[in-house]
Amino acid sequence: MKVTEHIKKAEGKTQFSFEILPPLKGQHIQSIFDNIDPLMEFKPPFIDVTYHREEYLYKEVENGLLRKQVVKKRPGTVGICAAIQNKYGVDAIPHILCGGFTKEDTENFLVDLDFLDIDNVMALRGDAVKSETYFRPEKEGHSYASELVTQIEELNNGKYLDEELQNTAATNFCIGVAAYPEKHMEAPCIESDIHFLKKKIKNGATYIVTQMFFDNQKYFNFVEKCREEGITVPIIPGLKPIATKKQLNLIPHRFHVDLPENLILEVVKCKDNNAVRQVGIEWCIAQSRELRKAGIPVLHYYSMGKSTNIKTIAEAVF
Ligand code: FAD
Repeated sequence: MKVTEHIKKAEGKTQFSFEILPPLKGQHIQSIFDNIDPLMEFKPPFIDVTYHREEYLYKEVENGLLRKQVVKKRPGTVGICAAIQNKYGVDAIPHILCGGFTKEDTENFLVDLDFLDIDNVMALRGDAVKSETYFRPEKEGHSYASELVTQIEELNNGKYLDEELQNTAATNFCIGVAAYPEKHMEAPCIESDIHFLKKKIKNGATYIVTQMFFDNQKYFNFVEKCREEGITVPIIPGLKPIATKKQLNLIPHRFHVDLPENLILEVVKCKDNNAVRQVGIEWCIAQSRELRKAGIPVLHYYSMGKSTNIKTIAEAVF
């Protein structure tokens, strides 16, 4: 079922959902199930599965020369989605990127998803590959998520890349896109970012999931700005509990979000990471309760492959 239908069906009740990462190559899919199992009692209407593009490694060969090697450390997004739908009967949402995909790759990926009865996709641009500073699209690929949304929407209307294809089957994907309450790192200002977010909606996206944030007021302000600009689709907040002291620097660096001073002070006081986890859980419970009280339709948790803290939060909130 589509995310938008799940929201409608819940009739105002806040639902619980979460995102997982494919395991590192070489690990068994059981590691994924072990993290999903404890969260199933909270009846997630959908589970997101991230997509991880290739990385370039340089390995030393004879004569000190370097050989470029392309590796995918976390393959398996589509397979995991199929396994989740099969095992749990819950909608799995694969993330799909512009980065590393030509339009043809995208179309073929979408055909697979359609054959697997996957009803939703999260359309993203992706970041630059690790060894590069700026995002570079494939030669025959998309530069922005809004263009990817257009291609998915065209497939939803039975329009394939090869115009000579006949009797084409239309897909029926519900399309989600990303948004950043604290602005995407490359956007010159929040207004510009919202302008392009609006374009993703105009091109066919019907719901939004936000980057993580630790201060609800930033989310509320962002939603207000989006509504003023005429964006009416659901804006699902993304939440992540802090779990280690290192994340005080890692999260701002990696995700370009601020941490509130009170949260930082609490974390700094902690003797070890067990204490940090507890602070992170309590902070996230407080955030979740406030969002729930505000009537937000879905709270979406970034599990990063570890479910124990998310389970504790869900027990307290749902
Ligand atoms: P876009 O919407 O294309 O925006 C990128 C930047 O370009 C923004 O600054 C925007 O303002 C600007 N922009 C947009 N259109 C135009 C235009 N026409 N002209 C000029 N500027 C423009 N990454 C992964 O690799 N795998 C994942 O599974 C994944 N899942 C994610 C899930 C969520 C909920 C979120 C919030 C992020 C996720 N990401 C993932 C990270 C995401 O790929 C990066 O944040 C990426 O840098 C931007 O993706 P986007 O889809 O928001 O890009």
